[in-house]
Amino acid sequence: MTSPEQFSRENLNQFPIFRNVLMDPIWELLRQCEVRNLSEGEVLLEKDQSNRTMFLVLGGTLKVYLDDEHQREAAELGLGQTVGELSVIDGSAASAHVVSASETSLLCVDQKTFWRLTRASHCFCTNLLIVLSMRMRSSNVSLEESENLQWKFEQQALTDGLTGIYNRRWLDQMLPRLLRRSEQDDLPFCVLMIDVDHFKKFNDNYGHAVGDNALCVVAETLVKNVRPIDLVVRYGGEEFCVLIPETDLQSGIGTGERLRKAIHKTEICDDSGRPTPGITISAGLAERRTGENADDMLKRADQALYLAKAQGRDRLETSA
Ligand code: GH3
Ligand code: MG
Ligand code: MG
Repeated sequence: MTSPEQFSRENLNQFPIFRNVLMDPIWELLRQCEVRNLSEGEVLLEKDQSNRTMFLVLGGTLKVYLDDEHQREAAELGLGQTVGELSVIDGSAASAHVVSASETSLLCVDQKTFWRLTRASHCFCTNLLIVLSMRMRSSNVSLEESENLQWKFEQQALTDGLTGIYNRRWLDQMLPRLLRRSEQDDLPFCVLMIDVDHFKKFNDNYGHAVGDNALCVVAETLVKNVRPIDLVVRYGGEEFCVLIPETDLQSGIGTGERLRKAIHKTEICDDSGRPTPGITISAGLAERRTGENADDMLKRADQALYLAKAQGRDRLETSA
């Protein structure tokens, strides 16, 4: 039973759920409602547990959490806001944990009283519709935000954090598909493995940050010097891989040489803006063989790269 000083008609009328509601016809119903006081940290609702009460915050704050550990906060409910009405309407269990964030006082409208209120006040029903549609709208916004985040995470998982180009994981997923497609279409396909020459020494001379910048310049230069259908990947460390579809070995050599020369003449500055002697790359090229899988083809390109290193670096070799 409620003592009249815990809430008045006037202050209830200020809350969204009772806005413009004529209090006289429902006052007796409301007076019968329990007022519950929670101390800080007290749990009001547990996720997946049955609930048959709508709670209206008369003072204090409730926090809504999606996880058992109360780490993922989904919402904060303050004065005049309600929670639990969905469970009352459709009989579902609580969809989240609701915990008191401070000393909180709540008007508890049980299921029977709730339905009596809907029968007694058209205005209460209208307010309820508004409250529910606002909640639906904010769920839609959250859904969109979480889809955007998911998309962003997926992108991040497939691109390299330093250079922004595709990473090894992307290559592992895509190369087998691209090879299958080129085999089906009976088109040639080349891969080029690239390794920056003496990069350890470059790092030792100019520092890791200048080295990082050099890798970004290499990535940028490779991307700028290939066709739109060619794909540049950071294979790992100072190694890159270029996928060259619809291209045979002879044309692939043209691409590889163009990239090697472009890197050779690219200017890279140290951290005080002075040009360094620059860097060079070695490259190994392999053309797809009938029925060959991605691993074997990459292995052949890698062997050609090894040969390019052995032959003196800043050069391109092809796989036999
Ligand atoms: P080689 O011509 O035989 O390829 O010699 P190398 O020095 O380039 O090869 P090595 O494998 O000995 O060294 C690779 C160097 O690349 C060492 C490593 O610190 C550097 N490196 C790898 N990843 C990064 C990176 O993300 N940033 C920077 N700054 N350096 C990196
Ligand atoms: Mg290497
Ligand atoms: Mg190297």
